[in-house]
Amino acid sequence: MNKHIRQYRRIVTKINWLEKEFEDLRDQDLSAKTTLLKMRLKSSHSLERILPEAFALVREAAKRTIGMRAFNVQLQGAIAAHEGKIVEMKTGEGKTLTIAFAAFLNALEGNGVHVVTANDYLAKRDATWMGPVYRILGLSVEFVTSETSEFDRQVSYGADVTYATNNEIGFDFLKDNMLYEAENKRQRELNFAIVDEADSVLIDEAQTPLVISDSKSSSKDDKALYIKLSPLVMKLKKGTDFEVNIEERTVNLTPEGIGKLEKILNVENLYGDGDVDYLYFIERLLKAYALFEKDRDYIIENDAVVIVDEFTGRMMFNHRYYQGIHQAIEAKEGLSVLDENPTLAQITFQHLFRKYKKMAGLTGTAVSAGKEFRMIYKKEVVEIPTNERVIRQDQKDRFFLTWEDKLKYLAWSVKEHYFKKRAVLIGTRSVKKSHHVHVELLSENIPSSVLNAKHTSREAEVIASAGQPQTVTVATNMAGRGTDIKLHKDIQKDMGLLVFGTERHNARRIDNQLIGRSGRQGDPGVSQLLISADDELIKTHFKEEYEKELKRHKGWAEGIEHPVLEKLLARAQKRMEDVFFDQRVLNYEFDKVLEAQRKSFYRQRNRVLLDKDLKEETMRLISKEAYRRIVAPIKSRSGVITERDVQKIVFQMKKMVLNDWFRPHNELHAGIELRNLRMVAHKSISTYYNDFEKYVTSKKMRMIEKTVTLKVLDLLWVEHLKKVEAIQGAALVSLISKADFFEEFEMQMSVAYRAMLFSAPRVIVLTLFRTMDRLFKSFSQYNKIATKQ
Ligand code: ADP
Repeated sequence: MNKHIRQYRRIVTKINWLEKEFEDLRDQDLSAKTTLLKMRLKSSHSLERILPEAFALVREAAKRTIGMRAFNVQLQGAIAAHEGKIVEMKTGEGKTLTIAFAAFLNALEGNGVHVVTANDYLAKRDATWMGPVYRILGLSVEFVTSETSEFDRQVSYGADVTYATNNEIGFDFLKDNMLYEAENKRQRELNFAIVDEADSVLIDEAQTPLVISDSKSSSKDDKALYIKLSPLVMKLKKGTDFEVNIEERTVNLTPEGIGKLEKILNVENLYGDGDVDYLYFIERLLKAYALFEKDRDYIIENDAVVIVDEFTGRMMFNHRYYQGIHQAIEAKEGLSVLDENPTLAQITFQHLFRKYKKMAGLTGTAVSAGKEFRMIYKKEVVEIPTNERVIRQDQKDRFFLTWEDKLKYLAWSVKEHYFKKRAVLIGTRSVKKSHHVHVELLSENIPSSVLNAKHTSREAEVIASAGQPQTVTVATNMAGRGTDIKLHKDIQKDMGLLVFGTERHNARRIDNQLIGRSGRQGDPGVSQLLISADDELIKTHFKEEYEKELKRHKGWAEGIEHPVLEKLLARAQKRMEDVFFDQRVLNYEFDKVLEAQRKSFYRQRNRVLLDKDLKEETMRLISKEAYRRIVAPIKSRSGVITERDVQKIVFQMKKMVLNDWFRPHNELHAGIELRNLRMVAHKSISTYYNDFEKYVTSKKMRMIEKTVTLKVLDLLWVEHLKKVEAIQGAALVSLISKADFFEEFEMQMSVAYRAMLFSAPRVIVLTLFRTMDRLFKSFSQYNKIATKQ
């Protein structure tokens, strides 16, 4: 026996000793016990030390409230979960109750426990089901689903135990990192997560990142604006109307250009706070015209703008330039302007769950994914023995030539069982195939229920009744997950649940999920998988060999058992497991680099968010920017400033603060020494700044500083994520050709991140002045109206 199990058994013995004593407690004594345990934790008793009592307490509470006495194996599973292991407990062993033990114990510390479920339906069901257990013990329990309002989320995450899906938790985590006010955070620090269906969440779903994208970003009006403004921008002249800086890849309008556009568009101020942000679109279009060249940077194929990779010359289908540039190019080329929903934030589950101080997982099928849990999550898998011996009969695979042959055999077998009033479950790899099966059965007059994981709560009811006499249920792997199939007493006395799989999946684990639905808690059961040459695993690996081998045997048309084919199939499956595993490891390595940046970025953003007063820091940024733009370009051989210099300086200053009323400090005049210029420039700008602050009040100014800083950071992060996508795409291509592709990838990632950090101060300062200018205008507008009255 496993060393862990031996140790767990000893602890379970202790828990069992306490049972009698706890039975004698009155209901109200139970929550008093909880308080006592909390106090002992505070006086430095460890969780491990109080575990036996805590578990004895939960067992008693569950007996009284929901009428279940936890089996010893459930206690073992709960100990393993508390230890942060990935726990394999077969289907029907009672993982929901097991989780409640580990959740209760850890919630005593007061930092919250998240129970992660596979769908919304289960979050609600499990929180409701286990609710009375926690509540009689004096702990609060809540759940979060996609229907939970923003308002309720903070409360739900504030509970001692919170049930929610990985998606909800992930999205809320990301959204918490996009807030403008710290007190609106939904979640507390991520403390302990217990993940149910751990292999689905941590392996199958871990690959595609959770993405929050900006759905507002391209409205119809936006698209129309690109088309409307494009001909205007086309007429602007380089040199007079705008200037191009090829190295920095920037394009700037000159005062002439601005004047021209204001006249044509009939707006008073292009930089103003009008209803339409013309400048945004004009800037993008200018770039599209001045910096992007057809057949060099992009080509047009089938009326679409396709980016050409600058390093490899490869066409990057399905990639788009970010921040409206792609749309601007489409307008420039007279094509239709497509939608654009930039990624605002993203994270993979692999990294989300590593953010918890502690994490545990439970699933019916973990052992075959042990390597992955170990490598990526640094987690050990512990297999908990079943409460009753499994007596299900797993029959040998049956091999056919075609899907049709297989289907015929299936219908024929099901028919026999159906008339003998048995319960049959058929698993398929896709919704489409489920329908095939359903139709084929209908033609034999056998009704069946089809589940495809779309309506989780309704399907839960259907799957719960899949163990009734004369019932046939067809389901994809995802469908009805987490719901136990209870057998009718006649079925239990007969053969139990009959499970047919219509194909093997790319991983053994997924096949086992299906098979494991039968034979729970010592019930009888039968399982069989039906294989044919058009199955994906065979088609892609050894179709010809398969067909040849099969046809050498008598009776192949009706399907045969075949040890050699079984071995070949197992080998193909293993190969696919390895392929997917490698892919996930690679993705993980890629994402690890981004994760480090995300951590650093979120840390800095959080610092800004929590900072009460950003003035000093903002002034420092402004001063630096003023130096860069105003002081540094002035070169004077005599060390003294000329009249021409003064003009240049004033022009640059006005450009920086974007305000015509701006007046430089009176110390600025021809003849002052160059070395004093920095101080004078700073004085000029800070006077303007402080005047503005007096004007709007300091409180408002602090708010503007913070909002602008956060907004700019978010914007730059979004741009960065776009670049990351492109870099990852390019790295995947060079993976085939270059040995050091990963180093190159890391380098490019680091260059992109540093470029973002480098540009942040400049963008913050400019955005700040633009915002001030807008406010100034709206205030003076207000003043005008006020004085008229
Ligand atoms: P799993 O998620 O492990 O497949 P569930 O938590 O859905 O299992 O529980 C399966 C079934 O077993 C449920 O119907 C539950 O009521 C029942 N069950 C769990 N634990 C016990 C117990 N200790 N005593 C009696 N029934 C139990």
